[in-house]
Amino acid sequence: MAITPDIPLQDITPYFTDDGNIRVSVLRLDLLHPVVSGNKWFKLQENLAAAEAGGYDQLLTFGGAYSNHLVATAAAAAAAGLKSVGIVHGLHAREALTPTLIACLASGMQLHFAERQDYRRKTDPEWLAKLTERYGRSYIIPEGGASEAGRRGAERMAAYIPETATHICLSVGTGTSLTGLRNALPAHQIIIGFPAMKGGGYLAGEIRTNLMADKDDDWLLMDAYHFGGFAKCPPELIRFLRAFHRCTGIPLDMVYTAKMMWGIRDLLHKGFFPTGSDIVAIHTGGLQGNPPDLFPT
Ligand SMILES: *Cc1c(COP(=O)(O)O)cnc(C)c1O
Repeated sequence: MAITPDIPLQDITPYFTDDGNIRVSVLRLDLLHPVVSGNKWFKLQENLAAAEAGGYDQLLTFGGAYSNHLVATAAAAAAAGLKSVGIVHGLHAREALTPTLIACLASGMQLHFAERQDYRRKTDPEWLAKLTERYGRSYIIPEGGASEAGRRGAERMAAYIPETATHICLSVGTGTSLTGLRNALPAHQIIIGFPAMKGGGYLAGEIRTNLMADKDDDWLLMDAYHFGGFAKCPPELIRFLRAFHRCTGIPLDMVYTAKMMWGIRDLLHKGFFPTGSDIVAIHTGGLQGNPPDLFPT
């Protein structure tokens, strides 16, 4: 898939701190691709390679009606000449198709709407066997791209992190990207994850089991910036991301990256980052899910 080879690291220090000894910049992975953006592009690469190596002509994956992963998979499959099937959470999603699901269909993805009780069995081999019986032989990617291949793909994000960075910040959904990054980056670079959902701290155990033995150090989850839960975006957060866009020109997404940037600013105000910190915030994309009128021109 054609991508922009140079990913800018954009300095936003003046908007975030007047401490002359702290630097904040944003790694613009959102610019990779209009749909397969941010961390999704990395998580999908190894999956696409494995599917092709295994002679599969179809991907099958899971997601909700607003899922960045689902639509990224649809677009990546189409670009690679593969078919795709998306298992969508909830029958209600069929009644009013979201722009995300419409984009999935436009990429040729076949959608299967699953009741809550069925969807919950998304890792149950028996249900997976039924799905592939119905839709044909498929390379299965778990929800959110949370798999060994996803983590290995995420490791490649490390190549874009400058050696001088002291703190790497990123949004957390499944923790797959954080795990890949921690496994790939040198230990002295501290990784801070900002879960987008309430009680995201529970992910720590899952992350830990997937870290290499000598890598379970210098990473943490800041779970106080969920703003009420996954996909909740109160007015103050919208005001913040609009102001951020006006100042920096960088569009954030409502589900993940706005919460992370708010969290970083809050931690800066509280003096969390020591003098000399060189903070890199990873823009993991997700802009496809924003409403079209979010950034007035
Ligand atoms: C999917 C997604 C995440 C979460 O990534 P994980 O690897 O599941 O933790 C973060 N930010 C954006 C914009 C996403 O779309």
